Amino acid sequence: VIGAEFASLWRSFGAEVTLVEAMPHLLPAEDEAISRAFERGLRRRKIVFTTGDPFASASQSETGVGVTLASGKQLAADLLLVAVGRVPVTEHLGYLEAGIKLENGFIHTDQRLHTGIDNVYAVGDIVPGQQLAHRGFAQGVFVAEEIAGFNPSPVLESGIPRVTYAEPEVASVGLTEATARQLHGDQIRVAEFNLAANGKSKILATAGLVKVVSLTDGSVLGIHMIGSRVGELIGEAQLIVNWEAKPDDLARLIHAHPTQGEALGEAFLALSGKPLHALS
Ligand SMILES: Cc1cc2nc3c(=O)[nH]c(=O)nc-3n(C[C@H](O)[C@H](O)[C@H](O)COP(=O)(O)OP(=O)(O)OC[C@H]3O[C@@H](n4cnc5c(N)ncnc54)[C@H](O)[C@@H]3O)c2cc1C
Repeated sequence: VIGAEFASLWRSFGAEVTLVEAMPHLLPAEDEAISRAFERGLRRRKIVFTTGDPFASASQSETGVGVTLASGKQLAADLLLVAVGRVPVTEHLGYLEAGIKLENGFIHTDQRLHTGIDNVYAVGDIVPGQQLAHRGFAQGVFVAEEIAGFNPSPVLESGIPRVTYAEPEVASVGLTEATARQLHGDQIRVAEFNLAANGKSKILATAGLVKVVSLTDGSVLGIHMIGSRVGELIGEAQLIVNWEAKPDDLARLIHAHPTQGEALGEAFLALSGKPLHALS
């Protein structure tokens, strides 16, 4: 995500950018339809990228950097940004001596973020899961309320929204189609709405899509969006997923015209078998 965000930012400043991703697609944790649309968006912006070819080594000279990929492909650049994830630095801080369990440096907790030792809790990136600021905030509030005896509901990983702040922007919450199929087999429904049929997206001259995944006879499991400004739609999307709303109920709700919110409404119309502005 961070590599993609910086590639987008540096391109906006006019730099020539090459993005190297080891996995088969950019933004590999996102639904594959979104990853593919993101790749199309970067190609339109003339951002070069390679996928499925891991970084092997780098060398530095007075004039810049050279990067070699596992395939032997060579890249030359002025600057190299390495954004391959973050790991905890928890050794020699006294955790083990206090009896707190570590797993690959992460702190092991139960669902209520308790370490199992006295009144010791853990929150944020140090707890395995999505490394996001708003997850850390929510977990911090949870622990404060837990200690105060309010018996709060645990922070569910599946309901945490995520946004990639790039152009095009990507926003999602809940399960991808692939994960939903793994968990529920063919008991899921999927619909996509192309932003080309959304008035506000035309005004913004942005391409993209909204993809929704639900149980066949049940609630919405995941919402996946790509296009300029779709991060602003994640508020509605996370309410839908976390309140376990049903597509047929959502399809009846009205969105103001012209807004990008209409695209979310249209995706649920399509999922309910009543597509309105579907592109043929
Ligand atoms: C480039 C980048 C962009 C990001 N963008 C986003 C984003 O757009 N949205 C989002 O939600 N998240 C984003 N994140 C992730 C977000 O920053 C983290 O999820 C969040 O900061 C985690 O909060 P935390 O309190 O768990 O840990 P941290 O914010 O890492 O805080 C831990 C603190 O502990 C300090 N520390 C470490 N060891 C010791 C020690 N021995 N003694 C004393 N202090 C110590 C560290 O210096 C640090 O200040 C981004 C991360 C990066 C790196």
